[in-house]
Amino acid sequence: MLRFQRFASSYAQAQAVRKYPVGGILHGYEVRRILPVPELRLTAVDLVHSQTGAEHLHIDRDDKNNVFSIAFKTNPPDATGVPHILEHTTLCGSVKYPVRDPFFKMLNKSLANFMNAMTGPDYTFFPFSTTNPQDFINLRGVYLDSTLNPLLKQEDFDQEGWRLEHNSITDPESEIVFKGVVYNEMKGQISNANYYFWSKFQQAIYPSLNNSGGDPMKITNLKYNDLLDFHHRNYHPSNAKTFTYGNLPLVDTLKYLNQQFSGYGKRARKNKLLLPIELNKDINIKLPGQVDTMLPPEKQIKSSMTWICGAPQNTYETFLLKVLGNLLMDGHSSVMYQKLIESGIGLEFSVNSGVEPTTAVNFLTVGVQGVNDTQLLKNTVDRIFQELLEADCPFDRKRIDAIIQQLELSKKDQKADFGLQLLYSVLPGWTNGIDPFENLLFDEILQRFRNDLKTKGDTLFQDLIRKYVTNKPCFTFSIQGSEDFSKSLEDEEQARLKKKTDTLDDQDKKNIFKRGILLQEKQNEKEDLSCLPTLQIKDIPRTGDKYPIEKKNISLRRITDTNGITYIRGKRILNDIIPYELFPYLPLFAESLTNLGTTKELFSEIEDQIKLHTGGISTHVEVTSDPSTSEPHLNFGFDGWSLNSKSDHIFKFWSKILLETDFRKNSDKLKVLIRLLASSNTSSVADSGHAFARGYSAAHYRSSSAISETLNGIEQLQFINKLHNLLENEEDFQREVVDKLIELQKYLVNAKDMKFFVTSDSDAQAQIVESQISKFMKTLPDDKCLLSGPKTSAYPLIKSEGKPTLIKFPFQVHYTSQALSGVAYTHKDGAALQVMSNMLTFKHLHREVREKGGAYGGGASYSALAGIFSFYSYRDPQPLNSLETFKNSGQYVLDDAKWGTTDLDEAKLTIFQQVDAPTSPKGEGVTYFMSGVTDDMKQARREQLLDVSLLDVHRVTEKYLLNKEGVSTVIGPGIEGKTVLPKWEVKEL
Ligand SMILES: [Zn+2]
Repeated sequence: MLRFQRFASSYAQAQAVRKYPVGGILHGYEVRRILPVPELRLTAVDLVHSQTGAEHLHIDRDDKNNVFSIAFKTNPPDATGVPHILEHTTLCGSVKYPVRDPFFKMLNKSLANFMNAMTGPDYTFFPFSTTNPQDFINLRGVYLDSTLNPLLKQEDFDQEGWRLEHNSITDPESEIVFKGVVYNEMKGQISNANYYFWSKFQQAIYPSLNNSGGDPMKITNLKYNDLLDFHHRNYHPSNAKTFTYGNLPLVDTLKYLNQQFSGYGKRARKNKLLLPIELNKDINIKLPGQVDTMLPPEKQIKSSMTWICGAPQNTYETFLLKVLGNLLMDGHSSVMYQKLIESGIGLEFSVNSGVEPTTAVNFLTVGVQGVNDTQLLKNTVDRIFQELLEADCPFDRKRIDAIIQQLELSKKDQKADFGLQLLYSVLPGWTNGIDPFENLLFDEILQRFRNDLKTKGDTLFQDLIRKYVTNKPCFTFSIQGSEDFSKSLEDEEQARLKKKTDTLDDQDKKNIFKRGILLQEKQNEKEDLSCLPTLQIKDIPRTGDKYPIEKKNISLRRITDTNGITYIRGKRILNDIIPYELFPYLPLFAESLTNLGTTKELFSEIEDQIKLHTGGISTHVEVTSDPSTSEPHLNFGFDGWSLNSKSDHIFKFWSKILLETDFRKNSDKLKVLIRLLASSNTSSVADSGHAFARGYSAAHYRSSSAISETLNGIEQLQFINKLHNLLENEEDFQREVVDKLIELQKYLVNAKDMKFFVTSDSDAQAQIVESQISKFMKTLPDDKCLLSGPKTSAYPLIKSEGKPTLIKFPFQVHYTSQALSGVAYTHKDGAALQVMSNMLTFKHLHREVREKGGAYGGGASYSALAGIFSFYSYRDPQPLNSLETFKNSGQYVLDDAKWGTTDLDEAKLTIFQQVDAPTSPKGEGVTYFMSGVTDDMKQARREQLLDVSLLDVHRVTEKYLLNKEGVSTVIGPGIEGKTVLPKWEVKEL
């Protein structure tokens, strides 16, 4: 939890200077510079390891959520994904920790709230965060040994990178295919059309960066020795940047790093700064890509225009560019939004739009998806820039003020993962020679900007446009959906496979078979994990954090250190009010409020005002399950936050959007919104297909899950798609969309059953807000004869007559889920089910579904509030095998698992990583407000979790899992050649 002094005292600053004497040597590290940043209440310390040249950045801040990271600059030599495969294999065992996947094993020996490894375009980093000091020491040791001394065995390369293997490992007659975790991960990425566009764009404009993640077509060129060589060249202290953040003593980490680096010398050769293509004339590239089956044929092009605008090394100019990008493309009043999206040229901005500092250059990109005339796009964009240069004051001063205001506010809004966010913002530049201190000089940059704005006004931005955009070479990149794209990828893979297998003789094939068996044996081996450091169950406190809430007349109050900000949440309970047929419209209704505009004002005007006076206003409709009964609670919620002195504005905006939103008058804006929602449907499924599959399966069991499916699941996507197809027929549109939303407004906007939650830093402020609430309530209708509807708790479930469902999407891989019914939150079996799901994931499914099955991820999870137990797999090449594994899991737990107390304790540690993860001030007590889970219920569940025994695990397995037919859902392409399909329910979207 974040807790620090409200006012940074000069005493603390003086103390920091004494603690880190510039020029002093601490365990082989020289303190080069320190930078106190009082407005962020931190002191940055820049150090270098004299012997190796390794750089270290420490952020001293009174925050117990400590962060550690080690990063290496890793220029990809080609598109085989060697940096990415190395990131994976590095974590497959090291000299000090010679076990399979120590990183993954540490997940259940730790209380870290974040552990990961990530490959950037030209750097790789390994960060974690934890509040437990012993944990910090343990993980730091594993991270350093894993990266510096990994075993990198051939079998790790085979498992994580790529290999040839029989489709069925035990059958030498079965087909030989490509397998491998990264191979399938990247095939899965390609299924996401937005990712595909982004990665092909990067490859085209910045070919020297290659593709650090790996292009599936090229991954199979990578050889084992290339991997070893890449590690040897790059994972060296001289090429490393380490980072620490928080309140733990720096000297302790320096001492440890110094020991670990002691065997290394200094390397002179640095990884060079890679450059993009030289853009000295217009370049136009057009490639084929996946068809989005949820969009009409004339909306299948994504296209963008990019200009190279200086270098991120110039931090001030990069800041100005970002402000310009914001003025051009952010929000309803921005010129590009109005002329490209609202005008209907495109459905939504393309994913690469905006200002992006990449390695050595800044890109300014304007692009759209769902366009059919790229020339029109180009002419329009050129004309917009021309007009911006010709106008006297092209940018509304209020909008610029609003941007400054937003920047200031975001600094005050405390995040629970502040240290990690800081690391992410500093690292890409730092690995490419940008001084990390520059990123911390926030106030200085802002002050300079304010001064410049006074003297130069809009010419500040016009000069930038003239310098980099108008009449400058432009890089145009487009991808057009093509019907045979998926087929062409499959053909390419088949041809590549054939080329490899054609050269195999009988002995090779025998070896492949033997190797497959051997890998499987290794994966099945029971290992001795005693070399790994671990926390104990006693490290978890029996009493959890409590966030006392005061109940006042109208509102609930949480007084905490909010740093001068007031957060207000309102909600209205909609149970038994809304007719079922209007449920699918609820999310669109909520979205409309913050997109359409009122009778008197355009939304662009309202939005500018919102940004000027508040940190943001949002509205949503969500369903939660009652903690005691699992019955649904349907809530219409609206949130807002601002400086204490401006909290009255939140209510003004709420009144405006709730009462005055005009659906009829703004029906053109409504069409734009529907197009925009429809345009990213397919990509969101490619991103989290397992969650969609899980939601669809769960909707067979409980009305709360069925409502959630209607609001957020595949059914919602289908619904939006249906509305999208109505847009051309005005009469249908008015009747099926506009009329319904107007009807909903009558149901939703009412003072009855309204509740509020106020988070503030003083009673006095909370008192002020209380009177603002009363005033606000009086503006709302308070009909005595309220509209009423059918029982929300009787909302119809999805039925598929016991058949599994295949939901067809044109992806390269599948996502699966199998769900079973559990219990309400307060029922004691819930804790045992949660522990069991965790043990299954870590002790069984990870091996079966990921290591053996080649899926990117897989496991079991238990949703405590919804009371649903579910299995899932992510980017899965063998969905049917996974479903079979899921089905047999109950039997496995009872007959084969042979779990002991350590296994049980480890599961509990993993669960408590999330239970005890730090909360930001604005998050404190919110679960109570949103779902009715009290601190006492949480404490009871905490104790239940800690007390779960192996007997309990067996008992709930027998009761809820064994011989139960779960509901299965698979998302992805057709499963050809399988005889089971006739027995499936197939859904085409
Ligand atoms: Zn990966």
